[in-house]
Amino acid sequence: MSIFSKIAAGEIPSYKCAENDEFYAFLDINPMVKGHTLCIPRREVDYIFDLEDDEIARFQVFAKKVAVAIKKVLPCVKVGQAVLGLEVPHAHIHLIPMQSEKDMLFSNPKLKLEPEEMQGIADKIYAEFKKL
Ligand code: 5GP
Repeated sequence: MSIFSKIAAGEIPSYKCAENDEFYAFLDINPMVKGHTLCIPRREVDYIFDLEDDEIARFQVFAKKVAVAIKKVLPCVKVGQAVLGLEVPHAHIHLIPMQSEKDMLFSNPKLKLEPEEMQGIADKIYAEFKKL
């Protein structure tokens, strides 16, 4: 079971931002910016482009809703989307509220936020997601 499967199953704690039967979203533990969120399918697949056609379509719609919720909570120019998957072998979409192109540089130093602040951000995103 991947670390992200354990997170989606609630076996490892996470700052939950959104969920449905098929997908789960939570804050990246080493955020590039406040609100940096990861979306995953509950089904464990390493490479995102190995997802079935209809599954990846639903995954993108889920990520879109999470991005809409993020933008309501964290004022930003746009929410950027990226897929790397070089570290964790479980498909995931990074959603990153951007002020500028520089916010998408994965070589940037990561933020260290207090647990209370992470929880507050996640709770706000979750509340907005539930309204959609
Ligand atoms: P990638 O696989 O796309 O290169 O990067 C994986 C991302 O997952 C990184 O941004 C990293 O900070 C994040 N990450 C790795 N392990 C955990 C974890 O246990 N919890 C959370 N919330 N994020 C993680």
